[in-house]
Amino acid sequence: MSLKTSDIIRKIEQWLPEKYAMKEDKIGLITGSFEKEVNKILVTLDVNMDVIKEAVNNKVDMIFAHHNPFYVMPETFVSDTPQGRILKELLKNDISLYVAHTNLDSAFGGVNDVLADILGLKNVSSLVTGWKERYIKFAVNVPLSFEEKIRKAITEAGAGYIGNYSDCTFHIEGNGYFMPKQGTEPFLGKAEELSKVPEVKIETILNIEKLDKVLKAMLEVHPYEEPAYDIIPLYNDGKKTGLGRIGYIQNPITLKDFLELVKKSIGVSDLKYTGDLNRHVYKIALCGGSGMSFFKDAWQKGADVYLTGDIKFHEAQEAKELGLALIDAGHYATEKPVVEKAANFLLLNFKEKAQVIISKVNTDPFAYYKG
Ligand SMILES: [Zn+2]
Repeated sequence: MSLKTSDIIRKIEQWLPEKYAMKEDKIGLITGSFEKEVNKILVTLDVNMDVIKEAVNNKVDMIFAHHNPFYVMPETFVSDTPQGRILKELLKNDISLYVAHTNLDSAFGGVNDVLADILGLKNVSSLVTGWKERYIKFAVNVPLSFEEKIRKAITEAGAGYIGNYSDCTFHIEGNGYFMPKQGTEPFLGKAEELSKVPEVKIETILNIEKLDKVLKAMLEVHPYEEPAYDIIPLYNDGKKTGLGRIGYIQNPITLKDFLELVKKSIGVSDLKYTGDLNRHVYKIALCGGSGMSFFKDAWQKGADVYLTGDIKFHEAQEAKELGLALIDAGHYATEKPVVEKAANFLLLNFKEKAQVIISKVNTDPFAYYKG
């Protein structure tokens, strides 16, 4: 069976759901068609004319990119501008362009986790929280004979997941009292007569996103005309993620040794930094790409050093005043490692049906002059 763009996107979005992305971010399918058959996918950080040429030469049907070439939307689509040229070639060659940007930054196993991984960080958590799982308690009263049927329906619809446990419910037996009024068709009891019925209250926890599905599943199998149920918001801490990461290296080392570790781990020859080379660093904050809007979060959380890209002069001065060491390893170098991870994800899921290739184009616009 052939593979469609939409099949691939459905799978990708299990890993990189839209809800992880920042509000204004332009992600998802940018050009092409959900219906297009895909035999070859090219994975890249950026899309420029060299990448398009590579895609066309390799007869690629779909490009998976981290940066959207139309992130800043052009005012026109004339093909004499860099963006216009890219758009023209994508459309002319019927290439589906799919973008995962801040959702790939935030995702478990995304840009920042990959960076934290290759540096060997432990006890890693998000530097800023962008998305948090919200839980609710759901309780429903059911007649004894329907206990199992309703338990099964709600847990199959997604209720009762706590960490790596599924089917978590709590059951309390008791008596339900009710009086059906005129015009009702009660499952048990008679109109205008008080009924006492042995019932079970099934309590469970669920992610608020599953509520509609769970409610529907319960209402479909519940025998009562008017089932009694509660939906209660909870403040329990669920899964959360966001941009950047913070964690610890194996042992405290000097900033100089950490710079060496960064160089080796991400394969760069030059690093810009602030701070005393002899000071020790242990708690490391990082954000792949352009992360200086979070340097105060890094400082507040007690990081010794913040690794990111695109650091500006005045920001560096401010961080230095705060006593937070900075390392600018470049936007490109701090995000590049995720490309292989994304390609492996696609390979793992589609290797029988599509070929996955990694772009060989170096899209870093900067070169580093050694003299
Ligand atoms: Zn970026």
